[in-house]
Amino acid sequence: MYDLLILGGGPGGYVAAERAGAAGLRTALVERADLGGTCLNRGCIPTKSLLHSAKAFHYAKDSSKFGVVATDVGFDLPKAMAWKNEHVGKLRQGIAFLMNKHKVEVIVGTGVLASPTRVRISETGAELEAKRVIIATGSIPSVPPIPGVRGNPACLTSDELLSIETLPRSLAVIGGGVIGMEFASFFSTLGVSVTVIEMLDEILPFMDREAVGILKRSFKGVRFALGAKVESIEGGTVRYSTGDATETVEAERILIATGRKPVVDGIGLDAIGVAFDRRGIAVDESMRTNVEGVYAIGDVTGRSQLAHSAEAMGRVAVDSILGTPARIRWDAIPWVVYSYPEAAGVGLTEDEAKAKGVDYVKATIPARSNGRFLVEQGITGNGCAKLIAEKATGRLLGATIVEPYAGETVWGLSYAISNDATIRDLCETVFPHPTASELLLDAAKEIAHSIG
Ligand SMILES: Cc1cc2nc3c(=O)[nH]c(=O)nc-3n(C[C@H](O)[C@H](O)[C@H](O)COP(=O)(O)OP(=O)(O)OC[C@H]3O[C@@H](n4cnc5c(N)ncnc54)[C@H](O)[C@@H]3O)c2cc1C
Repeated sequence: MYDLLILGGGPGGYVAAERAGAAGLRTALVERADLGGTCLNRGCIPTKSLLHSAKAFHYAKDSSKFGVVATDVGFDLPKAMAWKNEHVGKLRQGIAFLMNKHKVEVIVGTGVLASPTRVRISETGAELEAKRVIIATGSIPSVPPIPGVRGNPACLTSDELLSIETLPRSLAVIGGGVIGMEFASFFSTLGVSVTVIEMLDEILPFMDREAVGILKRSFKGVRFALGAKVESIEGGTVRYSTGDATETVEAERILIATGRKPVVDGIGLDAIGVAFDRRGIAVDESMRTNVEGVYAIGDVTGRSQLAHSAEAMGRVAVDSILGTPARIRWDAIPWVVYSYPEAAGVGLTEDEAKAKGVDYVKATIPARSNGRFLVEQGITGNGCAKLIAEKATGRLLGATIVEPYAGETVWGLSYAISNDATIRDLCETVFPHPTASELLLDAAKEIAHSIG
């Protein structure tokens, strides 16, 4: 009998397993494919590897202004893929090492819940008993029923696009969310003609509108069709409507990036009475489902589809099992778009502050006012830092950053929000000079000045 059995070895599952094992729980981790889940094998890490390759290409090609002489700069996609695969493999070994170190038993196979304390492995028929179970089965691409998508070799999800062998001449991206925009950034940097078709009136709908406008200026090779509903696809022709007009775009490849759905089918949820809907498994603040002893974490809960959210949920579930309940500050979960430049943020956007009726103050600082940004990007570089604070108290409520290092900077703001820091606290913090992070200090100073 295990103390804890975890279904799914993605960042939710393996981080929970590591914590449980380290705390002395007899733990088993059941994974049907590769350790690391979507994030390591088909998500976060492979995309960041390819985006880094594209950034290196961009630097090599466009650095004559910095005095760099580089001729015959080209891009070798198979080599970029090989680099990605090599390092994904190394990281997978790292997870296996961690599981071993914390005495987590890794079981290869598809787990199905037979009861709240029993999991059957489909492939072998083996039955495993555990006092507690965490479901961390993640999510898979959701392909909408657009006529002409199914069986169309031009249409790919992110899973398949991550292992193509030749660069397409053109790419249509259906869906302007994070996954769509990261691929748009990658391919357009390499000179592929990219069209993003988004049903809403703007890409990246969770992001501050003003900052999206600034970020979009950097997507130079990308054409945007916004407020556009895809009606059908035939071969490489995407037909979409924008109000009264119907338009088409031709592309060699079509990325279907219209969201991801939780893996809730075929894992025994109905049989044991776990409550779920199409958004995912319902959980409380301690990640408990409605069935005693059964927890759910990560993408399968539909609470947040980010690797670090899955990890945080795993931590909370294990702490709850260990009797030391913790909770997640959902308002302090950061997000990052790894385009070039990067965009990152945490907390409320200005529109959200307005919708909540918050009396707020804001400051937006253009990135080119920053020394490091200017010498690296030049006067035509696009970026900004925007802070939102509560007017009466100066408490930081939200931040959005657009600049090449935004993803490395945002954790500080997450820390600030989770500790209820104020604009005064930020102003009294010493920021290293010269860094792009000083944009945040400048924004904080501007707000401090305005609230007196
Ligand atoms: C292209 C792309 C880029 C992304 N980039 C980022 C990023 O930069 N940053 C970020 O934070 N997030 C990113 N994400 C999202 C991130 O990958 C997910 O939020 C994260 O992987 C969720 O972790 P998880 O543990 O909940 O599930 P998953 O990582 O999906 O892992 C679930 C695991 O469960 C296994 N499984 C499923 N059913 C069973 C079963 N019955 N038995 C055994 N095993 C089972 C699956 O094989 C899988 O390995 C990206 C996603 C994609 C698709």
